[in-house]
Amino acid sequence: LTRASGTVTKEKYDVVIVGAGVIGLSCAYHILSQEPSARVLVVEKALSAGQGDTAKSAAAFRNVFTSEVNRLLADTSVDFYSHIQNDLNFPLNQEFVGYLWLLTSEMFEHVSPIIERIRKSGVALKIWEKEELTKILQGARLDVSHQDEEAKMMKLETITHALQGIKCGTIGPEKLVEFFEGEIKKMGAEIHYGERVNSIIVEPTPKLNLAREPLVWQRAMIAGVKTSRDEIRAECTITAAGGWTPILLDPLGIDSHIRTKKRQVFTLRGPKVSALLHTKGFNELGVLPLTLVPPCGIFMKPSRADNSIWTGVSDYIGRAFTFEEDPAAEDDFYTYNIYPVISHYFPHFVDVRPFNKWAGHYDINTVDANPYIFEHTGLIVVVGASGSGIMKADAIGRIAAAAHAKKDIATLYGGKHFKVSRLGVETRNVEPEEFVI
Ligand SMILES: Cc1cc2nc3c(=O)[nH]c(=O)nc-3n(C[C@H](O)[C@H](O)[C@H](O)COP(=O)(O)OP(=O)(O)OC[C@H]3O[C@@H](n4cnc5c(N)ncnc54)[C@H](O)[C@@H]3O)c2cc1C
Repeated sequence: LTRASGTVTKEKYDVVIVGAGVIGLSCAYHILSQEPSARVLVVEKALSAGQGDTAKSAAAFRNVFTSEVNRLLADTSVDFYSHIQNDLNFPLNQEFVGYLWLLTSEMFEHVSPIIERIRKSGVALKIWEKEELTKILQGARLDVSHQDEEAKMMKLETITHALQGIKCGTIGPEKLVEFFEGEIKKMGAEIHYGERVNSIIVEPTPKLNLAREPLVWQRAMIAGVKTSRDEIRAECTITAAGGWTPILLDPLGIDSHIRTKKRQVFTLRGPKVSALLHTKGFNELGVLPLTLVPPCGIFMKPSRADNSIWTGVSDYIGRAFTFEEDPAAEDDFYTYNIYPVISHYFPHFVDVRPFNKWAGHYDINTVDANPYIFEHTGLIVVVGASGSGIMKADAIGRIAAAAHAKKDIATLYGGKHFKVSRLGVETRNVEPEEFVI
C-alpha cells in the first residue's frame, strides 16, 4: 500500500490473471518471460494450482490433426514440454506412447485420403494391418461375429487396421503445473490461493464519480477484479478460468463463446488389465498406446504410475450443456456406455469395475473446438480449450502473452509464427478439423 495525501492507494498490478490452471499459469509464464519487469498476480479460488479441470484431465497429447491451427498449437507445445523435460531436466512424465486409432474397414476407407494429407504435413504416422495387430494385442478380440447379438445391437464391426500417431502420448498435468508455478514464482509473480474473484471491475476513463457510471457515453474499461478478500487493480485483466469463465463474463455482457459439458474418467486395474497395459511392440516403453476404440472413440489410456488403464469417452448428443462446481462421475455411464464396447474388443476388462472415477468439464468452443483469445476493453479472455488444453497450453500462453504485449504475431516454441487475431472472434481464422474419428 502507498499513502498519498492522506488516502490509501492500492498497489496496481500490470496484469491480474484469474485462474491458476495450466492455461492461467502458462499465460503468466510467457508474459513474464517476455516482460520480466511486469507485476503479475494470479488469483485462484482453490488452495493450490491446477485443481480445476487441469487435475481432471486424461492428459494425453497428439499432433495428428488436419487443421493447421490444431497442429501448430499442439505440436509446438509438445516440443516445448520435451524441452522442459530433456533440456531443463524437469520431469513432466511426458511419455511418447503414441495414439492408436483402431479402425473398421469403413473407417479406414474414410480416413485413408486424410491420413495421406496429414502425412504430407510432416506428421509421423504408422498404419497397422489386422494380422500384425492380432499378434501384438494379445487376448484382444478384433473380429466381430455376425452371430453375436450384443455386438450386432451395438453395431460393432471387425477391426481391420489401426493408425498410430508417433508424436503423441501422455504427460503429468500436475508436473506441468508445478513447472509453470515454480518458474513464475522465480520470475516474481504473486499467486493468491484460496481467493475467489467475485466480479470484474468496469470503470469509466476518466472517472467522473457520477452515479451509476460508466454511463453509455463514457468509455468503459476493465480495471481489475473484486475478490473474496480485496479489490485488485490492474492495467490488464486476463480470465483463464476455463469452464467458470461465463460466470465471470456474463454479468459484464461479454460473451465467452463456450458451453460446458461434463467429461468423465474411470480407472481400471487387474491382472489381465495389467497384461494389456504392458503390451509390447508399439513403443519403446512397452506399453499400450492411448487407444481409441470404435465406433464412438472410447479411449483407453495407459497409466504406468498406478498400473492401470483409464477410460472415458466424449458423449455429445444427450449430454447436456451444464456446469457444476464439482461434477460427479456416473457409475451407470461406465456400465452401460463404455463397458460393453471395451469388454467386447478387450475381454481383459470382463467383470472389471472402476477402482476410481472422477469428472470435470470441457469448456467447448462449439464451432471449431479451438481456444478463443481476445481482448475487450482491457480484458483478455483466454477460454475454449475444448478438451485439449493440456496439449496446447504452452502455445495458448504464448499467444495470450503476445495479445497482452499488443503484438500481431506470437512466436511459438521452435520459432513458428502465429497471427494472434486467428483465435479472436470477429477475426477468427481456424480451419475445421477433418480428422475426427
Ligand atoms: C475428463 C477430462 C479429460 C481431459 N483430457 C484431456 C486430454 O487428454 N488432453 C488435453 O490436452 N486436455 C484434456 N482435457 C482438457 C484439459 O484438462 C483442459 O483443457 C485444461 O485443463 C484447461 O485448463 P484451464 O487452465 O483453462 O482450466 P482449469 O484447470 O479449470 O483452470 C481454471 C482455474 O480457474 C479457477 N477459477 C475459476 N473461477 C475462479 C474465480 N472466480 N476466482 C478464482 N479462481 C477461479 C479454477 O479454480 C481453476 O483452477 C480433459 C478435461 C477433462 C475434464
